[in-house]
Amino acid sequence: MGHVRPRAEAANRAMKAEGGWAVVSTQEAEIHPTSDLSPFAENRIWDARDIPALRLITDAVHDKGSLAAIELVHNGNHAQNLLTRGPIFAPSDMSLSYALPKQARAMDKSDIRDFRRWHRDAALRARDAGFDIIYVYAGHNMTLAQHFMLPHMNQRSDEYGGSLENRVRLTRELLEDTREAVGDDCAVAFRFAVDEMLGADGMQAAEEGRAVVEMLKDLPDLWDVNVCEWANDSMTTRFQPQDGYQNDYISFVKKVVGDKPVVGVGRLTSPDLMVSMVRKGIVDLIGAARPSIADPFLPKKIEEGRIDEIRECIGCNICVSADTQGVPIRCTQNPTMGEEWRRGWHPEKIAPKGREEAALVVGGGPAGLECALQLARRGYAVTLAEAGPELGGRVTRESALPGLGAWKRVADYRLNELRQRGNVDLFTDSPLDADAVAELGIPNVFIATGAKWRRDGIGRTTLRSPPRIAPDASIYTPDDIMAGHLPPKGRIAIYDDDQIYIAGVLAEKLVQEGYEVSLITPGLMVSTWTDLTLEQHRVQSRLIEMGVSLHVTRQLTAVDAGSMRVACTYSGREEDIPCDAALLVTERHRETALYEALKARGDLTTLDLIGDAAMPALIADAVYHGHLAARSFEADPAEVDRNLFRREITDLSEETQP
Ligand code: ADP
Ligand code: SF4
Repeated sequence: MGHVRPRAEAANRAMKAEGGWAVVSTQEAEIHPTSDLSPFAENRIWDARDIPALRLITDAVHDKGSLAAIELVHNGNHAQNLLTRGPIFAPSDMSLSYALPKQARAMDKSDIRDFRRWHRDAALRARDAGFDIIYVYAGHNMTLAQHFMLPHMNQRSDEYGGSLENRVRLTRELLEDTREAVGDDCAVAFRFAVDEMLGADGMQAAEEGRAVVEMLKDLPDLWDVNVCEWANDSMTTRFQPQDGYQNDYISFVKKVVGDKPVVGVGRLTSPDLMVSMVRKGIVDLIGAARPSIADPFLPKKIEEGRIDEIRECIGCNICVSADTQGVPIRCTQNPTMGEEWRRGWHPEKIAPKGREEAALVVGGGPAGLECALQLARRGYAVTLAEAGPELGGRVTRESALPGLGAWKRVADYRLNELRQRGNVDLFTDSPLDADAVAELGIPNVFIATGAKWRRDGIGRTTLRSPPRIAPDASIYTPDDIMAGHLPPKGRIAIYDDDQIYIAGVLAEKLVQEGYEVSLITPGLMVSTWTDLTLEQHRVQSRLIEMGVSLHVTRQLTAVDAGSMRVACTYSGREEDIPCDAALLVTERHRETALYEALKARGDLTTLDLIGDAAMPALIADAVYHGHLAARSFEADPAEVDRNLFRREITDLSEETQP
């Protein structure tokens, strides 16, 4: 939420403090208008006018008994300065890290002096805003201090370039400046990416990464170490199933820095793993971004021995996708994330029930499970009926696909709680129709019946000219494949008009099953949307390595018995891709038959349509809608308008700017 939504940001940080995290840190805070990350909403500490918003955070965190930390960052050529139109700085002349029609300029000595002054002034402002720990930041390949360290970005011949000692000089100066400015009042932390994960092409933990730690070991009060860049630091479970995956890279640091405390990250959700990392002397402190998003109360639950109540991060990076889209944070596992201020949601608390006694939830996917869980927490007698033999809906289906095993935690967490509650009845193999619902006699019904993939090839790009499907063509949908209905072995062509993640995952599965796979998409690259979760490059590499034949910028025009006919999205030129079967990944049909039948009868007190049946979307959205429905049921009439959340609207009633 950052500087754009300061009240929401403060409430979010406060929730983590309440959940028991010893230190709650901001995200990166831009120290100067030449490090303007607009339109992305990070924190901002350009001048004294930013202090009140930051003060909201420190006060809120201190109120809950935790320390507040701030990451002071200048983004160098990773800044775009789209708002400020200021100059962009780098060690040497170079392009930006984005494809933008601007270049960064080499900093001269006076620029470096200015930069050091900006950083020092930002540290003083951070202290004045009440922060206890102030970070110097050299990580993620997004920060000027780190850019000076990297030979490919630093081609200087003065005392800031050349030898490693020279390339580290600026960071050393920032650490010294910060200590001198605020070191008596605040701890100085240093976040450093010890390895670029590029092998010999980049900084490596075993070589220069270690040398930097040796050079600077005495300067910070706290070492915070990780790998870069962000896509390596925040790996998804799809591409890195093992939690604690940074340990091999960071484990040398503690040995070098001796008594200085070390903190590290790596999707640390398991208390056993945390303890083993401390016992092995890898870290002194456990760092967490995503695990604290999925469960702000993780430390409290450990402290109180409620380990099985931890809502574990599934490593899907939906949280990251909010940042990469510049919208408030959200989380698949924790639907209250980002809603602390605007909806007043607390992850551990929910209002007790009103006058009604019982509720029926139809459908046991993520929407139904979350709705049932929250209704049960509110005290209703909850009946959940699922048509299939297993609970979990699409979570169960999708988590059986390659790389998505950890997604099962979405169902496991909810089922674990639901099964322990005396006020919940869970039924499988129970497809309900309107008569069956009437027979149950429960007046409050939540329909979470999900959605099914279309079979007719209609989707985003084929809406205007639906593809011709020959009667003898062999057509499959994602639901078929996930249900184990596979074509005879041979060539299969996947048409991905969806362009989210599922077609890429199904391509992997089908290669593993022994098919010869082609993937055709109107997109410029495969699984376009996964760029937002920092995965796209890995998806495309993996499919290429697996031998999937990729056809981008191609639109489906027809499917025949032995081929798929596609047209170039630019030229319209057609070609045939030979295949024995076609898998169409286009759109989903909402399953609303039961909802419509019950609506027509009109005899229920409550009838609510939730999840994919209301709006086919991500699992995160289904969980969120299930949660929202449960909170809205019998709520204060003022809160029942689901669109009416608090907004931080610019106050035009008085002129607040000088
Ligand atoms: P969502 O993501 O919205 O939770 P899912 O597709 O994951 O949706 O789950 C919907 C679930 O609803 C499926 O498991 C499906 O078997 C179940 N379902 C659909 N229709 C009925 C019905 N009439 N009675 C009971 N369960 C149903
Ligand atoms: Fe973890 Fe996904 Fe939640 Fe992010 S959105 S914290 S990756 S569960």
